[in-house]
Amino acid sequence: MSFEKTLVLIKPDGVQRQIVGKILQRFEDVGLKIVGMKMVWINSEFAKKHYAAHVDKSFYKGLEAMITEGPVIAMALSGLHAVSLVRKMVGKTEPKSAEPGTIRGDFAHHSYEYTDAKGKAIKNLIHASGTKEEADAEVALWFKDEELHDYETVHEKHVF
Ligand code: GDP
Ligand code: MG
Repeated sequence: MSFEKTLVLIKPDGVQRQIVGKILQRFEDVGLKIVGMKMVWINSEFAKKHYAAHVDKSFYKGLEAMITEGPVIAMALSGLHAVSLVRKMVGKTEPKSAEPGTIRGDFAHHSYEYTDAKGKAIKNLIHASGTKEEADAEVALWFKDEELHDYETVHEKHVF
């Protein structure tokens, strides 16, 4: 079925800019359901688990420094086609290229050119799982079973 859970992190730059509410509002408006949510300040060891696919890349040092520099808001969102829907709403990795209307396109404008020259990770406010497989693994990494909740929203009456 196309009913999925996906992991979203509002990264330290989004938390420090105090736009958690604005970002969250977009996901609620589209009818996605928050099934898990918490504030977490991760360490280097956990960062390497979350970004295992990127550990050997040239930008990893900057990426780890960025993701561990303050707390993140972690959430598990549930909905139809949730993984691809959230990626569409988040926009391209590089805010400079992300379309207006996407979270990265509307709230940031960092470029690869600028950040790579400085050895920093690109500040793009948000992480979202890229595929269903990534989403399943990431939700399991960030949330225990008892931290995920099942309940009905009003949207479900009009979807199912
Ligand atoms: P995402 O799935 O869109 O977040 O992108 P990736 O999984 O490819 O990369 C993870 C994170 O690493 C991104 O969100 C950026 O913060 C950072 N990043 C990715 N690619 C680059 C890059 O080429 N240069 C820099 N400086 N940072 C990058
Ligand atoms: Mg990714």
